[in-house]
Amino acid sequence: MDVFDRLVGQEAAIATMRSHRTRPVHAYLFHGPAGSNVRDAMISFAAALQCPEGGCGSCDVCRRVLEGVEPDVVEAHRGGVTWLIEDIHEIERVARRKPLSCPYVVVVMNEVELTVLGASPSAPALLKTLEEPPRRTVFLLGVHDTPNDLATVLSRCVTIPLVGLRETDIARILMNEGVGADAAELSAAAANGDLERARLLASDPGVAERRALWSSVPERLNGTAAGAMALVDEVHRAIDAALVPLEERQATESRGRDSDASGGSRRGGAPKAEMERRHRREVRRARLEELRFGLVTLTRVYRDRMAELWGSPLDARTQQRLATYSDALGIVDEAFRRTTTTMDEVLLLSDLFLQLGRL
Ligand SMILES: [Zn+2]
Repeated sequence: MDVFDRLVGQEAAIATMRSHRTRPVHAYLFHGPAGSNVRDAMISFAAALQCPEGGCGSCDVCRRVLEGVEPDVVEAHRGGVTWLIEDIHEIERVARRKPLSCPYVVVVMNEVELTVLGASPSAPALLKTLEEPPRRTVFLLGVHDTPNDLATVLSRCVTIPLVGLRETDIARILMNEGVGADAAELSAAAANGDLERARLLASDPGVAERRALWSSVPERLNGTAAGAMALVDEVHRAIDAALVPLEERQATESRGRDSDASGGSRRGGAPKAEMERRHRREVRRARLEELRFGLVTLTRVYRDRMAELWGSPLDARTQQRLATYSDALGIVDEAFRRTTTTMDEVLLLSDLFLQLGRL
C-alpha cells in the first residue's frame, strides 16, 4: 500500500510520478478530463515527494499531506471566479520560502486554465513565477482542459496526463471494495466519473430513496404551480439530507485539526481557514452533483417511457405521447446545461418542474 494506490486506473501517470519522486523537476502539469481526480493525483505526488519513504501512505508526513494540513504542501486558492494577479503574487510569496521540515515546498494549484480568463488574465504572472523557481520548490499545476493560451505555461512543465474513469470501472472498483452490485452500479452512474463521490454515495443508504423520489416526478406533476412548488421543496430537502455524510466527514476533519492544533505545534500559515473554504467548495460541488444525479435519473425515466412505446402501433395517441416525452427530455437537458452556470438550485428546480408540469 502506498499513496498511489488510491489513483485507480492511472497506471501510466503513476509510473511517471514514481520515476520523478526522488529527483523532481520544478513544475508538473497534471491534466485530464473531469472526474479524473486531478487533485487527488497532485496530492498523492506531493506526499511521495515529502515522505522519507517516497509516499508510504502511512507515516505522519503522508497523513498530513493527504489531510491537507502539512505546512510544506500549500494548496493555492483563488480569490475570485478566475485566478487574480494578487493570488499569483501570494503563490509566489509562498514559493519563495524555505521548507519548514520537509525536503520541498510543494505548491499545488488546480484549475490553472482559469488564469487565462477575466479582464486581466493572471497567466503572465504565473509564467514569470515558474521562470525563476527557488531551488527547493516544486509546483504541481492541474488543469481539466488545456486552452491554447496555456501553451507557454505548459512548456515549463513535465506533463502528467490522467485518464477519466468509466462508469463500469468505478462500479468494478466499488464491488471489489465489497459494495453490492446494484448499489455499485447506481453509485457509479450518479458519480459522474468521480470515484470519491461514488464511494460516498455507495455508503449512503438514502441513494435509493432519492432515486425513487426523482423517478416519481412525472406522476407527481399535476399541472398546478402549487404541485410543482411542493415538489421543489421536497427535492430541495432531499438534497439537504444527501449532504449529511459529507458534512459529518468534514466535522470529523475539523475536530482532528483542532486536536492537532492543541498539540502545541505552531505551523506557518492559516490552514484552518483554508480547510473551511475547501469544505464550502466541497458542499457546493456535492449539491451540484446531487442535482445532476436527479436530472440523470429523470432523463432515464422519460427514456424508459419512450422505449416502452416502441412496440406499439404508431397511432395519434402514441405519437402525442412520444412528442411529450421528447419535449420533457429537452426541458431536462436544458436544466442540466443550466447547472453549469446557475448556482440557484430552487430557481432551476422551479423552472424545471413548472415546465414539465405544463406538458
Ligand atoms: Zn509516508
